[in-house]
Amino acid sequence: MEFYVSWSHSDVLFADYFDNCNILVSAVPDNRRAIGRIKTRPRNLLLDSGSVYYARQRLRPPVQTVFQTQLDMIEDLNFGTNIQMVHLDEPMINKSTLVECYRAMERTLYNAYEFLHLFQTHHFQSTIQPMGVIQGFDGPSVRYAARELKKMGYNSFGIGSLLTQHPDKQLHLIQEAATIVGPQQLHVFGVTGLAQMKEMIKLGITSFDSTRPTMAAVYFQLFYSNPFRTYLLADSRSTKTLSRLSEPLPCGCPVCLVNPKEMFTVGPRKFAKLRAVHNYYHLTKTLEHLAEQENQGEI
Ligand SMILES: [Zn+2]
Repeated sequence: MEFYVSWSHSDVLFADYFDNCNILVSAVPDNRRAIGRIKTRPRNLLLDSGSVYYARQRLRPPVQTVFQTQLDMIEDLNFGTNIQMVHLDEPMINKSTLVECYRAMERTLYNAYEFLHLFQTHHFQSTIQPMGVIQGFDGPSVRYAARELKKMGYNSFGIGSLLTQHPDKQLHLIQEAATIVGPQQLHVFGVTGLAQMKEMIKLGITSFDSTRPTMAAVYFQLFYSNPFRTYLLADSRSTKTLSRLSEPLPCGCPVCLVNPKEMFTVGPRKFAKLRAVHNYYHLTKTLEHLAEQENQGEI
């Protein structure tokens, strides 16, 4: 199982704390400038196109421009690691009519075709691979998009635009995509709920990403595992109905091994970064445990 933690320019450098860390980075301007700060080699890197960021802008950059940004980012990383490069796609967010959804799907396929051509002309080493993005709005369109990407020559796939969907529909679309490309070849973008992750593991999905360790940390939340649970810092002004915690519980994460009380500080961002490290530790532990249970047929 490969869990990718989303990383952006203002986040903690997870790979400095954890060996074998997988990181997802988007090819957007701020990350482009900050990527050189990653000095510790992650095991796998998913280099996303930043399409969710570009989709909020009036004009999309050309596929080639984003590809060039990705090339610059790879160069600045300055280390050998397994990299999957994701082409610019057109997410389904803000698409309300069937015509708009259909156009987004077609645009994504067209981009995938152009990207693969660019990718192939660069003759990368085998540690750098292209990923095709499946953008569909229902079962048939997801299957169609998956088949088209396969025909183009992609061997690795991602499915996007699931975040705003109802959990049942998310799983339905993931299942449809998996029947065409195989669950082991499919990365699921941005589905972050633990219940959904559990369901995905049951479907045989082995690759997904989440911003959850960082997001929860920013909202003053701390994860613990075995069993997985979330607490709110006792001093937080949040009105969320979660159990509050004022003292650290036993934990073997790199932050708690040094000074577990620091991450209980409500305030400067550096303390949220410590919480993100701690949260990452517990989320990955939980996912590893779920994967083990699945292997033994217990879920
Ligand atoms: Zn900890």
